[in-house]
Amino acid sequence: MGSMENGHTTERRFGTLAVHAGAHHDPTTGAVIAPISLSTTYAQTSVGSPVGQYEYTRSSNPNRDNFEEAIAALEHAKYALAFSSGSATTAVVLQSLAAGSHVVSVSDVYGGTHRYFTKVANTQGVEVTFTPTIQDDLEKLIRPETKLIWVETPSNPTLGLVNIRAVADIAHRHGVLVVVDNTFMSPYVQNPITHGADIVVHSVTKYINGHSDVLMGVAAFNSDALKERLGFLQNAIGAVPSAFDCWLAHRGLKTLHLRAREASKNATVVAQILEASPNVISVNYPGLDSHPQRTIALKQHRDGMGGGMLSFRIKGGKAAAHDFCQHTKIFTLAESLGGVESLCEVPASMTHAGIPKEDREIAGVYDDLVRMSCGVEDAEDLKADVLQALELAVASSKA
Ligand SMILES: *Cc1c(COP(=O)(O)O)cnc(C)c1O
Repeated sequence: MGSMENGHTTERRFGTLAVHAGAHHDPTTGAVIAPISLSTTYAQTSVGSPVGQYEYTRSSNPNRDNFEEAIAALEHAKYALAFSSGSATTAVVLQSLAAGSHVVSVSDVYGGTHRYFTKVANTQGVEVTFTPTIQDDLEKLIRPETKLIWVETPSNPTLGLVNIRAVADIAHRHGVLVVVDNTFMSPYVQNPITHGADIVVHSVTKYINGHSDVLMGVAAFNSDALKERLGFLQNAIGAVPSAFDCWLAHRGLKTLHLRAREASKNATVVAQILEASPNVISVNYPGLDSHPQRTIALKQHRDGMGGGMLSFRIKGGKAAAHDFCQHTKIFTLAESLGGVESLCEVPASMTHAGIPKEDREIAGVYDDLVRMSCGVEDAEDLKADVLQALELAVASSKA
């Protein structure tokens, strides 16, 4: 395997790295696929001399190391650290800040991130300021105690984009780190570190695992100081994934490029028929030329891809939005995203129900907004499913 032994090899392309990075042959049996190392402890030959590099599974284990090596390679990072969920990843990054620190965040972050910022971080002396227009406001929001900028692009569920490079340039002039939650795009479509981000975080639960059967998170970065600090907290807090989940997520990761391409292709087809439908008010999809920040997508996303997520406002209000999600036969009405199966939901009544209506509508989350996660089924079937559900939902709202 030669140079592939080093997962950080950058000359290899994405698909090759997805399959091979961190996927070492077992040195004793030759197994092409790594065994799942369920042992929680590792033998020592004399006190303080473990047989191999492992001592206790919370500190490190072979399956987690393999997964972290693969993610580091795919995010063009030197290091990656895996956690028990995307939320645990966020918590550890925030825990790394001293009391008295200040954070600037985009307004429409993931609901659980908003909850952590406003109900947990504040109790530990970390203050978060939210802004809906971070590129314009950042310069004047940065204070001497500002330590972190938190960006999510695309935003959820309205798919607004942030120019990572523009934000990073301002932040770095003030010595402030930039974190990008890259869950919606996956490392295949967007690599925030190459656009100036210091830390990229993922809910592995979504595209990276991709099969809706693992809860997990990961952070990737280049700095040795961050490796030291976040690695210490990974072990000290102990919010780590199981060896089995690391193994499953690594298996899922090996087909990320195939799944992300197909999901993006399907979302483009669905977005186009929605945009052409008389039953639809508007469509949010960064892969469409009508997207207000399409130029950012062209610069920041692989081949200008839009990814697998989109949202749209249906005619007929809240009732039509609810009906639509009940009439789809392939799209399952459910929260979450990024799996091989297509899902749909109504954010105002489900994932974003906790946000007051006025705040929601300022962010574009109206009662009639439907969010869709396009899977990897056949585009023609997804298209037919959406068209028949639109007809039924809008017809019944007019009756
Ligand atoms: C799901 C999600 C999270 C939280 O991840 P969990 O694995 O559910 O804890 C964070 N950010 C985004 C964008 C998400 O979609």
